[in-house]
Amino acid sequence: MKIAIIGAGLAGLTAAWELRSHEVYVFEAADRIGGKLHTVPFNGGPTDMGAEAFIRRRRDAVDFFTELGLHESIVEPNAELRPRVYTGGELHFLPQGGVMGIPSQPQDFFSAATNERITNEQPFEWEIGGDVSVGELVRQQYGDDVVDHVVSALLGGVYSCVADDLGLRATLPHLAATLDTMAQDGPVTLSAAIKQIESGRSPAEGSVFGTFKGGYAELYEALAEKSGAQIHLDTFISGVTRKGDAFEVKGAPGDIGPFDRVLFATPAPTTARLLKAVAPEAAEQLATIQLASSVVVGFNFASATDPEGNALPDATGILVASDEPGVRAKAFTLSSNKWPHLGEREGFLVRASFGRFGDDAIVRADEDDLVDYALDDLQKITGFDGRAAGVEEIYTQRWFGGIPRYDEKYLSTLAAVRAALADVSGIAATGAWADGVGVPAVIAGARAAAQGLVS
Ligand SMILES: Cc1cc2nc3c(=O)[nH]c(=O)nc-3n(C[C@H](O)[C@H](O)[C@H](O)COP(=O)(O)OP(=O)(O)OC[C@H]3O[C@@H](n4cnc5c(N)ncnc54)[C@H](O)[C@@H]3O)c2cc1C
Repeated sequence: MKIAIIGAGLAGLTAAWELRSHEVYVFEAADRIGGKLHTVPFNGGPTDMGAEAFIRRRRDAVDFFTELGLHESIVEPNAELRPRVYTGGELHFLPQGGVMGIPSQPQDFFSAATNERITNEQPFEWEIGGDVSVGELVRQQYGDDVVDHVVSALLGGVYSCVADDLGLRATLPHLAATLDTMAQDGPVTLSAAIKQIESGRSPAEGSVFGTFKGGYAELYEALAEKSGAQIHLDTFISGVTRKGDAFEVKGAPGDIGPFDRVLFATPAPTTARLLKAVAPEAAEQLATIQLASSVVVGFNFASATDPEGNALPDATGILVASDEPGVRAKAFTLSSNKWPHLGEREGFLVRASFGRFGDDAIVRADEDDLVDYALDDLQKITGFDGRAAGVEEIYTQRWFGGIPRYDEKYLSTLAAVRAALADVSGIAATGAWADGVGVPAVIAGARAAAQGLVS
């Protein structure tokens, strides 16, 4: 069977591997494979400028990496260090426990008034199966302090959106499900639901996260090679049409095709455009999914301490509260602290991240300005003067439309897209918008979509 896959990001390459017993052609608009996985050659070695970790507790993903022969490359972060959050002009340890920063009980971190609200939380009516934005729910129960100082900072690190722009069911499904169960007996509280989730957690078995010693290039290069697919770079696909039982794929340079099956592994708006002729109903729904942009500026400093003796903190990273005035960055990953294999290198690696949904201006900022913003913010937050310490290397990576926005409408939109696609034979669609933003979720979704395409 002759199959076209559009997009050589993680989803497209995983699908190509899954379909390796067929004749597979992958078409990629960019001049490289990997999409939002991008490992860049710094002087000290390969360094990720897109995704930089995965949830190691997802057994299916680890088994998949093992099948690809990558098991020995998996490394864990430094378990001794914790992330910090910058709020109110000070660095604090992130509160422990809870769900994405939503606590089950008072914490020193919060104001006395907030802790009072958490202790005396008023029960509320939860509509079973209903949805709400994370921000709205937590503001209503605990107040703005919890949302603006912790929850948005944590969610922003994953979704590039503040809590008010994210749906509870799409981003914290276990919390929504727990509220559903508890609501069968009447009004519920957030604190009781979080407590129930905390008590059901099994004791930590190794680190939650992992990454690859050689960066994500190890994964996307292994997938490309082991898939045996023909991968065409610099090939922008502009449309797909049906011709009898086959599909014509139109793109530059020149028309390509015909194919027996087509798998779309592109971001939501692109997939919507490409599906127009073959699945108009799915295309219409899919076009409503919005995207959040971000930018990563990677630095290698000569030292983690400047000549005045100001040192970067002993932390894996710093999240910036979403309402913190005078700071443009949303987070800093102190990569050389976080990952022991990076800590062994010369110098000190830091990733500055900018950009939340609705604020694309920062992602379009001049490269020199972004570098200045990052260095200024880092100095303001930690005292560390990166310019004086010595900037050995810089890499700026913009991620326009990097991550889908998983708002309260997202799950119903997705269900409508899936239903519309199920009525059309010979095509399938996959990717972060379809299956969840994390690397393990994208892999699982792409494998399932690929299997469905040929079954
Ligand atoms: C800054 C950032 C940090 C992240 N960090 C993490 C992390 O630490 N851990 C984690 O688990 N996840 C992380 N993620 C999420 C994860 O990287 C993504 O969800 C995942 O890589 C998406 O893969 P994909 O294949 O669905 O999409 P993409 O990677 O977007 O792949 C789609 C591909 O399609 C191509 N394409 C688009 N249009 C066309 C066209 N018309 N014709 C041909 N090709 C086209 C694109 O060029 C691209 O290569 C992060 C994401 C970002 C942006």
